[in-house]
Order: sequence, then structure tokens, then C-alpha cells
Amino acid sequence: MHKSHPRPFNLVLVGPPGSGKGTQAQLLEERFSLYHLATGDLFRAIRFHAGGDDVLANEVKARYDAGIPQPDTVAVELVDRELKRLHRKTGFIFDAFPLSVPQAIELERMVKFYDMRSPLAISIDVSEAEAVRRLTLRRFCPVDQHVYHPQDAAYTANKCAVCGGPLMQRPDDTTELAKKRYLTYADRIMKIKEFYREHGRLLEVSGEQPIQAVFREVLQALVPYL
Ligand code: ADP
Repeated sequence: MHKSHPRPFNLVLVGPPGSGKGTQAQLLEERFSLYHLATGDLFRAIRFHAGGDDVLANEVKARYDAGIPQPDTVAVELVDRELKRLHRKTGFIFDAFPLSVPQAIELERMVKFYDMRSPLAISIDVSEAEAVRRLTLRRFCPVDQHVYHPQDAAYTANKCAVCGGPLMQRPDDTTELAKKRYLTYADRIMKIKEFYREHGRLLEVSGEQPIQAVFREVLQALVPYL
């Protein structure tokens, strides 16, 4: 019989852009029926509630339109709203959260408040060269913003699956900018990993192997916690 834990587990994915967080999150979400909570999606979604009496939505939209980064406190508030809405129903995979130690501390506070299990951090480790290589391979459709990866049929055909238009490299996926992004993240990631290591909840896997092999390593690392 399937062993069921009284409370679902929660995962935090840590790694630089291009390490495979989104890819592994999708596999984990399917395997364990977890809710994929991506703060990027929350920021994009809440802008559409601007114009009413949701003060946070109005502030997010104003910053977004002005190209001003969103502060830690807003990311925390958006995550808090989602936890309030869903915490009794499911476990979570946090994607692009926490992105700083103060956010990690807030997440600890929130999971305690909602009586959830403390998050396990899965760090997907890749070298700068590999992360940059993958990001420069990505293509997107400038019309509908869809992103395509080498394994997608539309990528090989060089035609958007939605509108049929030609695919392009995103302006921020050049080698130079991808390297810059890797370095920005490397420092943050080191500190976030240190935080979870100190809490005894850091699992490290190598991201430089085929997707299914990374997934097997993740599952192996999770065994003691299932
Ligand atoms: P992140 O969410 O960390 O930025 P993604 O999951 O979007 O990373 O993956 C970035 C790119 O690398 C995608 O094109 C994806 O298909 C590819 N990718 C992901 N995992 C692997 C892997 N293990 N080996 C090779 N390519 C991978």
C-alpha cells in the first residue's frame, strides 16, 4: 500500500538560469502532484488585477511598467497569498523563490504559520559554460513570446507552433548576457545553499547529465524524506 505522509512535502529548486529547474519542476509536479508555484508567473498574473482596490496589484504594475525590480517583500506577499489559498490542499514546488536569504527566512516563517512541512532545497548544479550553452540554444517567437527548446518539434522546424512565424534568439540570451546572469545568480545561489545546508535540508544533484538521469538523482535524494 502507498505510504502516505500526514503532510505533503515542499520543495525549493535552486540553480542558475539554464540549470534545468523548470524541466525538473515539471517532472516532480507530475510525479508527486505538487503545485508549481513560480513567482515569475505570480508577478505576471497580478498585473491584470491592477486598476481596482488591490493596492499590491497596482504597485506591482507600476513598477513593472517602469522597469523597476520588485522588492523581496512583494514576492513574499504574493507567495503568502498563494499559501493561504492552497496550503491545506497540496504540497508545493517553489520556483524562483526564495531568491535571497531574507526571502528564505520569510519562507521558513510562512511554512510554520501554515503548519506545512519545512521545505527541502534541491540544488541543480551546472557549470557556467553549460548553463550559458543551453540558454544561447533557446529560441522564442517574437509574436507570442513562446519559448522553444532543442527537443521541441517547432525548434527543429524553426516555426512557432502557435502562429507559424520564424523563431529568434531572445535578446538577453546572447553569450555575453547569459554569462552576466550566471555570475549574478552564482553569488545568491551560494548564500541560499548555505542557508539550507545549515538547516540540514540541502540536496545536491548534478544537472550536467540527461534530463531523466537528473530526475533519477533527484528522486534518489528524496527517498529518505518520502
Ligand atoms: P531553468 O528553469 O533553470 O532556467 P530550464 O528547465 O528552462 O532551466 O532549462 C533550460 C534549457 O536547458 C532548456 O532548453 C532545457 O530543455 C534544457 N535542459 C534542461 N535540463 C537539461 C539537461 N539535463 N540536459 C540538457 N539540457 C537540459
